[in-house]
Amino acid sequence: MVRENEIRAGEVAVDMPPATDAGLVFIGTIRTPWTLRLECPRQGREDGPVCRIELFEPWIEGLDGIAAYERVEVLYWLDKSRRDLVRQSPKNDGTGRGIFSLRSPVRPNPIGTSVVRLLRVDGPVLEVAGLDCLDGTPLVDLKPDRSQFRPLAPPQKGDFETA
Ligand code: SAM
Repeated sequence: MVRENEIRAGEVAVDMPPATDAGLVFIGTIRTPWTLRLECPRQGREDGPVCRIELFEPWIEGLDGIAAYERVEVLYWLDKSRRDLVRQSPKNDGTGRGIFSLRSPVRPNPIGTSVVRLLRVDGPVLEVAGLDCLDGTPLVDLKPDRSQFRPLAPPQKGDFETA
């Protein structure tokens, strides 16, 4: 689904407050083969093309330890999306569905997430497979895949006690 400014049958747009982007700090840029939304996959696939995640300073040091993970969760800002449709019609068939029952890029805060396969870490650059965003999409965050992540140390007695 590629959404520019159309309203389809079954859809509802709302008046948006001015967007402030919540003061997010973009920590890098995502490089993919896709420059048009029509070309982008709807969801990334692990056998998809190799993409590059390029971290900005001063966040590069934050990659320390990430190479231990086979999979990483990537959060990105779908910056070309409209944000005002509370009901949408993905199939353009006249029936609308609420935005929070969809993974559409058109949402009030257009955060995209993908779990990608981590192929290589080369300084500030991660090579990954499994993305579905446009070339130049801003990077919001990286986290180890939750199924692989273990807390580094077990909680100690007293950790949760308050004075
Ligand atoms: N995997 C993410 C998720 O589920 O949160 C995103 C899924 S969303 C359906 C993927 C689609 O968003 C792509 O097919 C493309 O049409 C659109 N898209 C990709 N990059 C975008 C960007 N930077 N701005 C706006 N739309 C984008």
